[in-house]
Amino acid sequence: MMLAELRNISKSYGTQGKGNLVLDQVSLAIGENESLAITGPSGSGKSTLLNILGTLDSPGSGEVILNGTNVSLFTANGLAAIRNRFIGFVFQQHHLLPQLTLIENVLLPLMPVRDRVNRKDGEERARRLLDRVGLAGMIHRRPANLSVGECQRAAVVRAMVNQPKLLLADEPTGSLDAGNAMQLGKLLAELNLEQKLAVVVVTHSMEIAMRMGKIYQLASGKITLLEKS
Ligand code: ADP
Ligand code: MG
Repeated sequence: MMLAELRNISKSYGTQGKGNLVLDQVSLAIGENESLAITGPSGSGKSTLLNILGTLDSPGSGEVILNGTNVSLFTANGLAAIRNRFIGFVFQQHHLLPQLTLIENVLLPLMPVRDRVNRKDGEERARRLLDRVGLAGMIHRRPANLSVGECQRAAVVRAMVNQPKLLLADEPTGSLDAGNAMQLGKLLAELNLEQKLAVVVVTHSMEIAMRMGKIYQLASGKITLLEKS
């Protein structure tokens, strides 16, 4: 069984029809523990595709299958539940809350967890992950006292604290300098191997894309698998 699937997804914005068809019958299957990159020009629909896959946006037509379940007819609450359990998101901006420390920020996704044992496990996992990404010594600092690269690594930890099966990253290195971008790309590839986690990363960087198992290109509403050379 595939971990996540898009089947014949089409999406256009507005009501003018074909003129602004962003995704045109796009299908994509992601296996457990797979890693893939999505590249393509600005405005080609990469964020739209990722948001549909992550149930943040709805397709015009087609089906989204997560863990074998067709979620196309789920209510907003049903989608939120599967999203929280199953998917982690990383965006171009880290979106850490400035008034909270790093550890407080990465523990936020555990707020709905009422069970004490599960919460304790989550806290231990958060600390291990912060250690894993090289932030162990900084967990009590606020984002303003950290570099953008460090904040983005914390955002990756926050996305993983609920043990998602699928990590979706939309241009996660877009606000980083070249050195930090490479470090983050390497980290995503390593976490994919270490954590039983499928990773989908939208990126303009061929260097980062090459670290992923498969590279897809989105253009003119169609997705194609590129041969890795
Ligand atoms: P990418 O992430 O590849 O840059 P997007 O998925 O953000 O592309 O956008 C694809 C196209 O859809 C662009 O032409 C963009 O202007 C348009 N678009 C995206 N979101 C909206 C929206 N909420 N309303 C109208 N048009 C949108
Ligand atoms: Mg985008």
